[in-house]
Amino acid sequence: MLEEVRDLIHRCSSCSLAEVWFEEDGPDVYLNLNMVATEEDLERDHYLEYEGQTIETVKVQVAFCPYCGQKLTRGKEVVVPQFQHHNFGGKK
Ligand SMILES: [Zn+2]
Repeated sequence: MLEEVRDLIHRCSSCSLAEVWFEEDGPDVYLNLNMVATEEDLERDHYLEYEGQTIETVKVQVAFCPYCGQKLTRGKEVVVPQFQHHNFGGKK
């Protein structure tokens, strides 16, 4: 289900290798970037439960794909720079 949504907006070969996806919200397009737990993170932070667990997510409004340059918005000229940051890790 999640994969279908990701493919619908923009399929990028660079993004297929990382926890990166694009999301459409009305006329706005957002780049979502996940930082996932590695084996090292699990050793350092015992609140983390498994490898690949999302630790942090950053969501940034974009007009173009920053990896391949494809335009993602349709006829929208103004993009307000803004971001949301979520921290799901145990260490604060
Ligand atoms: Zn791209």
